[in-house]
Amino acid sequence: MSEMLVLCPFALDSGLLSEAARLSGGNLRALVPEGKGVMAGEYGASHIVTLAAGEIPEEGEFAAFLAENIRAWGSGMILAPATVRMRNLMPMLAWHLKAGLTADCSALRLEDGRLLQTRPAFGNSLMADIRTLSDIQMATVRPGTFRPSKCPAPSPAIETLTYVPAGRVKLLGFAPFSEGKPLSQAEIIVAGGMGVGSREGFAKLERLAQKLGAGLGASRTAVAAGFAPYSCQVGMTGVTVCPKLYLAFGISGAVQHLAGMSGSGTVVAVNQDPKAPIFDYADYGIVGDWEVIADQLLEEENL
Ligand SMILES: Cc1cc2nc3c(=O)[nH]c(=O)nc-3n(C[C@H](O)[C@H](O)[C@H](O)COP(=O)(O)OP(=O)(O)OC[C@H]3O[C@@H](n4cnc5c(N)ncnc54)[C@H](O)[C@@H]3O)c2cc1C
Repeated sequence: MSEMLVLCPFALDSGLLSEAARLSGGNLRALVPEGKGVMAGEYGASHIVTLAAGEIPEEGEFAAFLAENIRAWGSGMILAPATVRMRNLMPMLAWHLKAGLTADCSALRLEDGRLLQTRPAFGNSLMADIRTLSDIQMATVRPGTFRPSKCPAPSPAIETLTYVPAGRVKLLGFAPFSEGKPLSQAEIIVAGGMGVGSREGFAKLERLAQKLGAGLGASRTAVAAGFAPYSCQVGMTGVTVCPKLYLAFGISGAVQHLAGMSGSGTVVAVNQDPKAPIFDYADYGIVGDWEVIADQLLEEENL
């Protein structure tokens, strides 16, 4: 099997690195930001390339630079987190390498030494297994899909790759879509659904989230109703999350929602309908009004 390469030049994705280390059996190269080399080794990279570069203003030029290096490395499978910048970079890189690229995968496995990539298809109504036929296979994976687990490589080799942009484009700024830590990295998530019923209800959940040091999540219908912004949407058409604790208030438990949070550690569901499907999935279920429970948690001093 040829070498697997994880590209994280802008920010290290420890979950993706862990999964790639498992799949590649340790034959894993990782391109990571300067200063993250040791951490990449802890998550299983056996050959670490740290990128010495200032701000990268133009992904097109950077893609050409990367393609030249990847050809020299001989990597046969290339994975990257589906972040905004990598979603922009990977198609250009695929063009340079004449490689097939599968975007937004939710699972990866190997068959006969080739990568089998699973992703939602046909408006998320089915999950498709995709095997690209090109010599080099490429895939992006939603951040938060894989839980990070440390599996240190025995004695990883570390080298530095220096990139100096030609300077035709100057990057004036790069602002994140939402404030604070991304939902995909939250250890606790307080999520609300249509049962929460209003923006005011979500404001209460946000106070609870702040109290618990948690991120705020929402179902698609709650987002569509304007109760919460899209950046909170969890599920097939939103963010994929794997927190240690997922508190679901007034969420019925549709498959499209579960698809985005099934990697959660412990799930606690509050719903007034004892037959709500979320109870089939939750570790702990509370049958009752979400607001009564949220108020009790807000009043609790020992949280
Ligand atoms: C192609 C496609 C993609 C989709 N992608 C997503 C996605 O990414 N994420 C997503 O979430 N959905 C997605 N959906 C929508 C999904 O099918 C469901 O419609 C949606 O998840 C339901 O949201 P909900 O649970 O908030 O609302 P509902 O299904 O309306 O459930 C509300 C729940 O609140 C309970 N409730 C009501 N009042 C209270 C109260 N006072 N206290 C406690 N409980 C109460 C009710 O008993 C009910 O179970 C998608 C659908 C399609 C077709």
